[in-house]
This record gives sequence, C-alpha cells and structure tokens, in this order.
Amino acid sequence: MLVLGGTGEARELAAALTSARVVSSLAGRVAHPRLPAGEVRIGGFGGVDGLVAYLRAERVDAVIDATHPFADRITANALAATTATGTPFLVLRRPGWPPEDDWRYVDSVAEAAALVAGRRAFITTGRQELGAFTSGVARTVDPPDPPNPRLDLVLDRGPYTVDGEVALMREHRVEVLVTKDSGGPMTAAKLTAARHLGVPVVVVRRPPPPPAPLVETVAEAVAWLTRGSGAG
Ligand code: NAP
Repeated sequence: MLVLGGTGEARELAAALTSARVVSSLAGRVAHPRLPAGEVRIGGFGGVDGLVAYLRAERVDAVIDATHPFADRITANALAATTATGTPFLVLRRPGWPPEDDWRYVDSVAEAAALVAGRRAFITTGRQELGAFTSGVARTVDPPDPPNPRLDLVLDRGPYTVDGEVALMREHRVEVLVTKDSGGPMTAAKLTAARHLGVPVVVVRRPPPPPAPLVETVAEAVAWLTRGSGAG
C-alpha cells in the first residue's frame, strides 16, 4: 500500500495497517515532520510520470490519498497515475467544519487577504501565500520563505487548546481570523476561541474533491482495503 500523507489521518491509517506492507509518503515541506509508523519515503515523485514509475517499480497494490484537503496537485497526480497503471485508488478526506452564521467563505487565500486588508488578522492558512497579507499575525510550522515583515509570526503546530487560542488572539488584538476549511479537531480550537471573542472568521473553501472513491474516516479506509481495495 502507498499512503500519501502529511495529515493526522494518514498517520492513524499507517498505524492501523499493521498486517500489510505500507509505505507512507511525505512531500518534505516541513523540516521536522511527525513521522507515521512503518516505512516512510520523503519528497516529490516527479509529477504523474514519476508516480507511475514508482507504482510500477514498487508493485504497489493500492494507493490511499490521505493528503490535506488543500493539497490538490498531488491528489490530481495520484488520480492520473493510478488511472494509468490500473491501481485501485481511494481518497480519505476528513469533512470540512460545519458553517456558522458569521463565517464568510472565499475561494482563495488571495481573496481572503484582500478581504481582511488593514485589519489585524490571525492568519492560519499555512506558510505559502502569506505575501498578500498586510497586517496581523501568521502562525506557521516552519518560517515563511520569503518572510513577510508586515506580519507578526508565531511558530507552532497543533493540536491547540481553546484557552491558548483565546490568549494568543487577545495578545495580538486580533480582529478577524483567516482559515482554510481544513476540518478535523486538530486545529478547531481557534474557531471556538473566535466565537468566544466575537471575532469574525474568513474561511477559504476547499478545492473540489477528485472524481474518485472517497471516504471520510480512517475506519472506512481500512474497511475499503480489507474488502480488497474496491476490487471486489
Ligand atoms: P500539492 O500542492 O498538492 O503538491 C505539490 C507537489 O508536492 C506534488 O506535485 C508532489 O510533487 C509533492 N507532494 C505533495 N504531497 C506529497 C506527498 N504526500 N508525497 C510525495 N510528494 C508529495 O501539496 P501541498 O499543498 O504543497 O502539500 C504538501 C504536503 O503537505 C502534503 O503531504 C499535504 O498533505 C501536507 N499539508 C498540506 C496542507 C495545505 O494546506 N496544502 C496543510 C497541511 C499539510 P511531485 O509532483 O514531484 O510528485
């Protein structure tokens, strides 16, 4: 099995699949990633062709794409490569957060940046695409490259607590929260904190899901593999 990772669910899945040979793949974006159990490979495959070559060379029986809902290039590549090789393919995507009344949805990080310009924003969209933001505090795992000198920077990684998020938002006098619709419990405390403080939330919509079999939980992914990777 090849598990395309970089998420908590991918780590849970690798830990759950003890009876098969599983290789977890990480992009290599984070300097010190949390490593899944078992075999791990790190770095891009070299596009669709590289992934096709990998699937053939390693004689991969099934691919589970458990990457982040916003990692849409690797997902598109995995769909194309598994289609080319005839390898069973499953997408594991945790659901997005249930919308709340004072959340404003936008289609891109750039649109979010334009919407919050001039306000002290708490930016939690990751270290890519930070250049367009003009004021506030960004939280990232590794420092953004290039840095954005107009923003304060907090280096940290989840899970976070509501009390911690409230304290951070008060300390930085945050007026608006910017987040991707990542879903899941790992980073949800900021949403509770924003509600508590009456801070509005700008949510970047997910890219559309790929046209492939899709499940929302690790248990469903394990069941799919147990049934024979969708083949039977
Ligand atoms: P992306 O834009 O979809 O992918 C860009 C390229 O990075 C891919 O074409 C592929 O390179 C390589 N890549 C991505 N994920 C990979 C993986 N799991 N294993 C091997 N190569 C991978 O990806 P991204 O949005 O930069 O995300 C990179 C990683 O960070 C993913 O593993 C994702 O799960 C994790 N992550 C992303 C976000 C986010 O907001 N985007 C948030 C949290 C975690 P090649 O074409 O050379 O194969």
